[in-house]
Formats: sequence, C-alpha cells, structure tokens
Amino acid sequence: MAIASSTFELIGNTPIVKLNHIPQAAGVKATIAVKIEYMNPGGSSKDRIAARIIDAAERSGELKPGGVIVEPTSGNTGVGLAMVAQQRGYRTIFTLPDKVSESKRAVLRAYGAEVVVTPTDAGPDDPRSYYRVAERLAAAIPGGYRPNQYDNPNGPASHYVTTGPEIWRDTEGTVTHFVAGIGTGGTISGTGRYLKEASDGAVTVIGADPEGSIYSAPDMDHVHQYDIEGVGEDFYPKAFDRTITDAIVKVGDAEAFEMTRRLAGEEALMVGGSSGMAVAAAIDYALVNDLDEHQTVVVLAPDSGRSYLEKIFNDDWMRANGYGDVVDRTTKPSLAD
Ligand code: PMP
Repeated sequence: MAIASSTFELIGNTPIVKLNHIPQAAGVKATIAVKIEYMNPGGSSKDRIAARIIDAAERSGELKPGGVIVEPTSGNTGVGLAMVAQQRGYRTIFTLPDKVSESKRAVLRAYGAEVVVTPTDAGPDDPRSYYRVAERLAAAIPGGYRPNQYDNPNGPASHYVTTGPEIWRDTEGTVTHFVAGIGTGGTISGTGRYLKEASDGAVTVIGADPEGSIYSAPDMDHVHQYDIEGVGEDFYPKAFDRTITDAIVKVGDAEAFEMTRRLAGEEALMVGGSSGMAVAAAIDYALVNDLDEHQTVVVLAPDSGRSYLEKIFNDDWMRANGYGDVVDRTTKPSLAD
C-alpha cells in the first residue's frame, strides 16, 4: 500500500537533482547536484535528527512522560522536535535569536510549540543569549529536558544512517565530493563519515561556512555576526567532528544570498540561504581545484526558500541590509522595461 502510516515515515529519501545552468556558466566542468532536504515533511534536514534524539532520551530516562522539551533552535530543529513531541504528548519550548523571521516563529507555534525570542547580539556566554535562556528554562521547569543538538551524538548518527547511505545509493557510488554548511556540524560529520567509509576514503568532504563564523575564521577577532541563518557558530560544538571535514570554504552573506536567488530564478530550485551558501562554496571549490567532468559534487540544501520570503526574497529587506547589488544583478527587467 502506498499510504504512509504516519508523517514520520516520509522523512528522508529526499531527491538529488543536477544543476544545469549556474555551474556551467561559471565554467565548472564537474557535475554539481543538490540534495533537496525541503522535501522532508517538516521542510528541512532537521526532521532526520528529531525522532532519534527523542527516542534516545526516552530510553535513557532523561525525558519522562509529560516532560517538557526545551531547545535553542533557529527554527528547523524546532519543527522536527515539535512534530515528534506533539505526537507523543510532550510540551515544547524553543528559544531563538530575534534575527529569525516571524514566519519561522509562526511555523513553530503551528506545530504546538512555545517560542521565546532573545537578542541576536548576545554572545553564547551572555545570560540573555538563546543558549543560556534555554539552559535556565530547562533547569527551572519540572520535567525539563534539553536535547542539546550541539553536543548530542544522535544528530550526526541520524545522518550517518540516513543521509550518507541515500547519497551513496542514489549516485551509485559515483559521488566524489560532498559539500554541506556547518551549523551544529551534525550533517557534515555524520554524512561525511559514512561517505568516507563507503568510498574507502575517496570522497572529499567540504564544509561551507559564513564569513564571521568560527569554523573558517583565523582567530576569534574575526568571529562576528552575519545574516545567513542556521549555519556557522561562535563556539565548537561536539556534534562537529573536525577529522571528517577536508576543507572549509568561507562564503560572505552577499555571495550566499545572490546564489540563493539565482537558484530560484535559473535552476527552478527555491532553497534557503544556507543552501545558496553551500552551492556557492561548491562552485568556488570546483573552480579553484579544477575539478573535471569525472567528478560529482553533491551539495546538501537544508531547507526551502519559502522560509525566507521576508528576507532574501524581499528586495526592500535586501536593500535595507546592504544587498542592493545582489537585487540589481538578480532581478530581471520586467516586460514594461
Ligand atoms: N542550514 C539550516 C537552514 C539549518 O537550520 C541548519 C541546522 N542548524 C544547517 C544548515 C546546518 O546543519 P547542521 O546543524 O547539521 O550542521
């Protein structure tokens, strides 16, 4: 029977599609293909980690019946956790920085979660930061449980058992490079580890990182705020295994947003800013390393562009935030012109 028994059965097995215009126009000879994670029922790659994290917490006794899940999340992890939590009768409270758009907060509330908004400019040690507020809430609320996706080994493990095998299977073992943005590092570490094992070390794993994030910064003086959501950090999470990533490509906000808009406009692929960032990194890497037609680069696109309609796809927001050049280069003339 083709009727799935629940939404959760629909998680994973997302499609991979080749880019046909943008890499070619840039002079890339290798195949660049994108794994479209917005095809997951909750709309992002984070659906994959939620059930595994909650299952493990139930088994260990950290999460008890009637418990409350408290997590700092930029949105996508919250959706995954809220979906599982509502089905199992847990309350969910998420803390998120105020740079996360109102529509993302509305999505979390729609799934039944409570949302606490904190200042983006508060660093990880600031008591007002979304990390610290989540810690205090989890400690203060009876039955509070912090999944802590940044340190939770079930994050990378989810990608090791699902994302990695899917890419290996769907490329019939022809993948030579894997590119992903690094947030908690779970995606790149779990998927990368599987692909390296399956290929006897032949697959090269490349991290994409926003300019200002710790992963690509030479030192802490170069760590600063940036606008791309869901990726980059100002500390090293345990979910990130540094031994898996072979190279890290730094991408600026403007380059990431321009690529995000081009993917929608030229490849009919409406993905989020961290996806645009990862594709930009893949193209930079392919050009600098002169990858040829025998190489296949798979880029993970974590979520949909529909979550960024008020930002990356809004010309007023783009201009107000200094991305006017991107808008002017990517907006096609109308028929009236
Ligand atoms: N892109 C987006 C939009 C995300 O929400 C996340 C998760 N924070 C990532 C990329 C990075 O994934 P990971 O945490 O597995 O490194």
